[in-house]
Amino acid sequence: MEKTDLQPAATGGVSGEAVHSHTHDHQAVPSDLALRVKSLESLLVEKGLVDRAALDALVDAYENKIGPRNGARVVARAWTDPAYKQRLLTDANSALAELGFAGQQGENMVVVENTPEVHNVVVCTLCSCYPWPVLGLPPVWYKSAPYRSRTVMDPRGVLNEFGTAIPQDVEVRVWDSTAELRYLVLPERPADTESLTEEELAALVTRDSLIGVAKLAPPTSEGRA
Ligand code: FE
Repeated sequence: MEKTDLQPAATGGVSGEAVHSHTHDHQAVPSDLALRVKSLESLLVEKGLVDRAALDALVDAYENKIGPRNGARVVARAWTDPAYKQRLLTDANSALAELGFAGQQGENMVVVENTPEVHNVVVCTLCSCYPWPVLGLPPVWYKSAPYRSRTVMDPRGVLNEFGTAIPQDVEVRVWDSTAELRYLVLPERPADTESLTEEELAALVTRDSLIGVAKLAPPTSEGRA
């Protein structure tokens, strides 16, 4: 069901070009659903029934605030409770459900742990499968063709572009999400955080670290980890 992004949008003899009068960069022709949503949104805005800024704020909340904050809470719990971390790494579905983060687009989860020896990064090569209950909506770059293809071919190169240099002696593992199986990265706990509470630790965790394109900096550091 998920893998429909790449299918041609238009059917019934109407070409994809014919329904486009706007200009923006396309990776592929938008899906039929995306076009319907866009049309509906434009109409609602035009009629004054919804405020585009309010819509943007809503999307921003799911992309940047609500979603990744859930994943951050999971990570902070794992850092502070070894038994929870063990459950998270062996049976992520149950461990995530313990904190209330189960549901649509996150039914079957695997959590992969970053260590000094291994760095994990997540991609969906076919479309944009992403664990909504713990991360919210995927960022635009996650859905882009270059990220989807190049992360597999040249993960270190892609990570470098995110400002994340992984030393040669650290193994980089790439995990390809599907509609059936989605991944969350458990980042390494930054140094100098022994005195922080679980809540303070959660505040350090970024969305990008949960996808694996970033590492976490110590709280007092001005630079990155
Ligand atoms: Fe996908």
